Amino acid sequence: MNQTQFACYECDTLITVTSINEGEIASCPRCHHHILDKKHDSINRTLAISGTGLLLFIPAVFFPLMSMQLLSVESSASLISGIAALWQTKLYFVATLIFLFCVLSPLIKLTAAFVVTLGFKHNKHQHPFYKQLLLFYHHVDSWEMLEVFLIGILVSIIKLKDMADLSFNLGLLCFSAFMLCVLSLKITLDKQMIWDDLNYER
Ligand SMILES: [Zn+2]
Repeated sequence: MNQTQFACYECDTLITVTSINEGEIASCPRCHHHILDKKHDSINRTLAISGTGLLLFIPAVFFPLMSMQLLSVESSASLISGIAALWQTKLYFVATLIFLFCVLSPLIKLTAAFVVTLGFKHNKHQHPFYKQLLLFYHHVDSWEMLEVFLIGILVSIIKLKDMADLSFNLGLLCFSAFMLCVLSLKITLDKQMIWDDLNYER
């Protein structure tokens, strides 16, 4: 039986957790903070979600998000052309941030999750490459900015709606689904389970 020691994130109590079953949650006996939970069918669900996200990447980034009609001039913009426009107007910092958080970080997370779970499914995950990749995913995962950007985009759309005629394009649907896939990795990917397995099979 696997035994792992955890320090509670809230009160630092040292807890020994034996293997838990799917759907079960281990919590701290002192402060009842959740230490560990076992996710349902993590490998297959993560593989499906990250694969879908990767398929959506091109349309999400390169298809026009919306068209805007202002004073009889119609213009449409994709995420990448929006970033390029910000860069051209010398808003380098904003352009870089949007590129990092809306393009690069989601792409890295989806690719890493896809490759790790694919390796796991085909029992090839003992290779040290997968451990490095999971560590890399963990680092990128700590850039918690996606939700903020999504809210920012929604607020700008609502504000723009009063100023101009807006019509939404396929790109916005793909982009929303793409972001949803990235956010869903938090629910489906059981990093702890994969990590334990990588360590035990050495
Ligand atoms: Zn605790």
